[in-house]
Amino acid sequence: MAIYVLGDHTLDLREPDRETLVALLKDETVNEELFHVADCVKTREFGNKVFIRGIIEFSNHCRCTCAYCGINARMTRIKRYRMLPDDLVDAAVHAAQTYRTVILQSGEDRFYTADMLADIVRRIKKQANCAVTLSIGERTLEEYRMMREAGADRFLLKHETANAVLYEALHGVPLETRLDAQRRLRGLGFELGGGFMVGLPGQTDETLADDLLTLVREKVQMAGIGPFIVHPDTELAGARDGDPHKTLKVLALARLLLPACHLPSTTALNVKGGMKNALFCGADVIMQKATPFAYRELYDIYPGRDAREVPLEEQYETLRKGLAELGLSAE
Ligand code: SF4
Repeated sequence: MAIYVLGDHTLDLREPDRETLVALLKDETVNEELFHVADCVKTREFGNKVFIRGIIEFSNHCRCTCAYCGINARMTRIKRYRMLPDDLVDAAVHAAQTYRTVILQSGEDRFYTADMLADIVRRIKKQANCAVTLSIGERTLEEYRMMREAGADRFLLKHETANAVLYEALHGVPLETRLDAQRRLRGLGFELGGGFMVGLPGQTDETLADDLLTLVREKVQMAGIGPFIVHPDTELAGARDGDPHKTLKVLALARLLLPACHLPSTTALNVKGGMKNALFCGADVIMQKATPFAYRELYDIYPGRDAREVPLEEQYETLRKGLAELGLSAE
């Protein structure tokens, strides 16, 4: 367990405290040192590897009303889609020819029963040699168990914000509901991915420190930390986007607190042009779209997402070359 001295601040990983994290977030003079140390920790843990995942957004139906999300249940004017199970399996098997991990993501869409999802996972695992990550929201313990027993390896379920009042205002349900779901997943042996947004209206540095400590307390093995991006059709229209620079600081602190955790350069951060920087501030994962072209623009959770129609192999090769130029190796 390390003790980091950054500027005037001492961050003791045996007992990371909120006060020090807040002070580090506020102190702009430590940035260069913080980013350097985070990069060294990442290199110690993963060498120069960057893990590339393919993500398939298979349904934009959602029963939830998350205030920031462009596909939430209140958005009546958007075009909804669902991929049929056979098409989803085919897309995942195809994606697995390029990516070692395939992430299946959707809104909270109850059209897909746990039986259906388990069957989809089972078929993918049988036909392709890849890890399967699910990102489909909250379900019961029994439903999660079925997916785990079918072979799903990992599950992404961010806590989004550790401020219970803010969480409830944005989601209409208590934060504990989300944390309970994370604990169900961890108890079943899923590799658990958490995470949160940086720059939500009403968020403070104290909230961000609590967000980081939540990742530690909930023992996440992956964490997606991205800037909040305003969707103009949501009730948060007119708010300000999260700051990519602040996001990088939070990411770097996450790397110190959770040395072996997988930390993506999130798609939201990439939209803000932060990918290259993130890879030298602690991030070790990049997610690339593997959603069939017909649906890419429709999975509109926030603006600016990449909807280009580049074949997966070409997309991967371009990324691999770009990483090689930075001295990094695509895995
Ligand atoms: S953030 Fe996820 S759960 Fe919330 S409304 Fe959007 S798709 Fe649904």
